[in-house]
Amino acid sequence: MRYIEPHGHMVSRTTDDYLAMVTAGCRAVCEPAFWAGFDRKSADGFYDYFCQLTDYEPKRAARFGLPHYSWLCLNPKESEDLELAEDVLALIPEFLERPNVLGIGEIGLNKNTRNEITVLERHVDLAASRGELILVHTPHLEDKLKGTRLILDVLDADRRIDPGRVIIDHVEEHTAPLVLDRGYWAGITLYPESKCTPSRAVDMLEMYGRERMWLNCACDWGVSDPLAVPKTALEMRRRGLSEDAIEGVLFHNPARFLQQCARFAIP
Ligand SMILES: [Zn+2]
Repeated sequence: MRYIEPHGHMVSRTTDDYLAMVTAGCRAVCEPAFWAGFDRKSADGFYDYFCQLTDYEPKRAARFGLPHYSWLCLNPKESEDLELAEDVLALIPEFLERPNVLGIGEIGLNKNTRNEITVLERHVDLAASRGELILVHTPHLEDKLKGTRLILDVLDADRRIDPGRVIIDHVEEHTAPLVLDRGYWAGITLYPESKCTPSRAVDMLEMYGRERMWLNCACDWGVSDPLAVPKTALEMRRRGLSEDAIEGVLFHNPARFLQQCARFAIP
């Protein structure tokens, strides 16, 4: 089986994880910019992080024969400081030219505050003005439904945005239909402790269709499983999905979305 891991924070993982992913059939990994577990104090911290995502980490993945792609942004958790946000937004364009960059992400909302919405709108404007793909993080738990609605309203308000070039990640049963009905792609995140289990994920594919969905592990420095996607293939097989159908969701779907970026090469 081959699959693409469309959302993994590999800078926080070990080389053992790379080896295990490649052994399980991973053919490409995509790494959105996100929170580091602490708030960065200056734009210089983001500059170094963007260098890590676009230079060092692709080389580390290449040692395992794994193509590595990245998404760039200031994440919503660090969007409260508007001055810092402007400094970081000014850094992003030069990095968008780098060969492994897929677009702007993971932007979105965390606590659904006014400043977070302002910074989200600034990122959407940057992506729209340059024709970049967008990857969106939706908030956790009780903030998810309201946050998803606010994010979709920001995206819908910009007429330059094509919903087919935007993926809304971490959807759950109560947000997936909102996202798909408006024409966006939806990402399901598989987490051992929160977010979604394999059986819930496959339930959602059965309920909402497989056409514009991808599955990801969103592994980071917290409790998470870099092999959550291939493990979900076991649940798909148990329910009688063919090997073609499984590869359709786990490989061809992310490939179809990502190849809208000219810098992405189908592995
Ligand atoms: Zn993430």
